[in-house]
Amino acid sequence: MDCIIISEDDEWAQQLEAKLSQANIQAARNTSKSSLTTEDTLYLVDAANRQPDIADCSKRIVLFTDQPNEQSVVQLPRTNAPQWLLNHLGIGSKGLPTNCGSTSSEGQIIVDNNGVILSINENMSSCLSGAAEQWENTYLDEIFPELTDKTNHPVRRQLNKLCHQGQPCSGHLFAAKNSLGRNRYLEVNVSKLIGNRFLLSCRDVTQRTSSHNAMRHKARFDALTGLANRQLLMDRLRMALARSKRFQRQLAVMYVDLDHFKPINDTWGHAAGDAILREAGARMKDTVREIDTVARLGGDEFIVVIEDLQDHRDAGTIAENILNALSNIFSWQQHEFNIGCSIGITISDSDNEDANSLIEKADLALYRAKSKGRQRFEFCTSELTAQARYKMVLQEGLQQALQENQLELHFQPIASTDSNTIEGAEVLLRWQHPKVGTVPPKDFMPLLEQTGLIIPVGEWLIEKACKQWVQWKEIGLIHKNARMSINISNCQFSSQQLISHIQRITSNLNMPKNTLALEISEELLSSDQNGIEDSFKRLETSGINIFVDDFGLGNTSINSLSKFNLTAIKLEKPLIESLSNAPGENSLMAFSALAHSLNISMIAEGIDDKSQLKILSESGVDSYQGYSFCVPMNASNFEGFISKYNNTEKIIINSYPG
Ligand SMILES: [Mg+2]
Repeated sequence: MDCIIISEDDEWAQQLEAKLSQANIQAARNTSKSSLTTEDTLYLVDAANRQPDIADCSKRIVLFTDQPNEQSVVQLPRTNAPQWLLNHLGIGSKGLPTNCGSTSSEGQIIVDNNGVILSINENMSSCLSGAAEQWENTYLDEIFPELTDKTNHPVRRQLNKLCHQGQPCSGHLFAAKNSLGRNRYLEVNVSKLIGNRFLLSCRDVTQRTSSHNAMRHKARFDALTGLANRQLLMDRLRMALARSKRFQRQLAVMYVDLDHFKPINDTWGHAAGDAILREAGARMKDTVREIDTVARLGGDEFIVVIEDLQDHRDAGTIAENILNALSNIFSWQQHEFNIGCSIGITISDSDNEDANSLIEKADLALYRAKSKGRQRFEFCTSELTAQARYKMVLQEGLQQALQENQLELHFQPIASTDSNTIEGAEVLLRWQHPKVGTVPPKDFMPLLEQTGLIIPVGEWLIEKACKQWVQWKEIGLIHKNARMSINISNCQFSSQQLISHIQRITSNLNMPKNTLALEISEELLSSDQNGIEDSFKRLETSGINIFVDDFGLGNTSINSLSKFNLTAIKLEKPLIESLSNAPGENSLMAFSALAHSLNISMIAEGIDDKSQLKILSESGVDSYQGYSFCVPMNASNFEGFISKYNNTEKIIINSYPG
């Protein structure tokens, strides 16, 4: 019962009851005070003929009387009671709120406590693109489809809250379906009306929400392929990882890289490239389950996350399916392309693993798959992980290496092939890592270059080596013309500061510049990089010697040998072997003659067999270095070796000829 009319005036009570009934408000007449017990019921008390016992009444009392009374809760004239009541409650003659009309800018829906729609206003029906009658006497689910199977839906929760606690609720956003089947977004406030009915005031925020959703979509999905982007991938991977730990299930992360994508982009342009990427993404998505994630990291790199694996071998099967899907022909316009892909897989197997480390491991495995010939998949193994850890340890320790004197110079003598006279030495950098031990240059030189530390480390090396070399000359350990050669990376060579740094050091030490050589890579001879020619010119005018290191690895033309003023080329062991074993005339001799005609000396590297010396000497190779003569040594061992050598061989270190 919505309200109880308490009056001894039956006629007045009947009139009031009838009026309320027209407005769908259930009313009952009662003359007994004993029924004044429930809080939800509104008590309409006629106090015309008597004084009600106010203390017995609960909160919701309206007192009608023409006689002002000091004790009353609310005093109102009884003659206009029906209309006043409707106005006061905001209800029109049809039982709708009086503001549920064309004057309200909001959409309004009135429902009963079963969710049956009693009425909707014009704004609401136009928002829903239909006539009000279409929805009246249907359930609220017709407008808010999410209500159908979600009993915990916010609207229902709010209705419950209102029914049981009498609290109004506001400001929740709901997706509504209009008569055309399109989504509208409504901000809904729910309030209770008299008679177990509820008013839903709805503000249409579709435009605002759609642009917000579009922005949200843009931030989380790759615009080209519609796949998850890196941000969404990381979110999903973190959640998947948490689930896999909780339920003790395996999770696979696959790093997929298209094999022959770049030439398509380069040859046919981005339109072709983009079409291939979209198609590749779609094929991958078709290969995995709905719950799995396919994301594009950028370029032609994708990540696939497979959850809930029964066995790690299943990941191999899925990878095989992806390989097959992408090995089918791709078409763009009238053209057909073979693409294919390589895949690196890692399986989460420890509690300490995080999303980033899984992707790094998959990347390591991908690298291996590519190096083994592409169009295949590889799992990340413990050996691969150990390599990655090793690289990380080196990377972390690199800064300290210089500060804590962990870097050391080693010297390897270079001797003449005919007399074994020591003519000079090559300076080599060694790293004594406190945990790892001796780190070979091939492991840390790339890191120095990647981090840019090659410049300060290079400058430190040049200064320290020059000081040492000058000191050995001053004490008479080596000949004053003996030459020291220092390896220079490509990035050092193109640095503006290199030559001025060397000039400053050699002048401070009073070291003749022709007793110093820089060993550069063969590829610099044919490089068209900006500034390389300038560096060569400045070196030539400075008087510092240029050695071409590891000669024989590249494809140097005779022209580039004659283009620059080179002092020597250092021949790689395989080149020496192939030249000496070539059929017909001694090619090594012919090559030496050519080099000499360009005033370039020949130094053989990596000579570990003394028997080779005779051939080298006869072929015109001037000098050599290698284990057969002497290994690289630190400064004190080098001193010891040279002293002993000078005494036993009775040969004073000589200078280079010419
Ligand atoms: Mg070298």
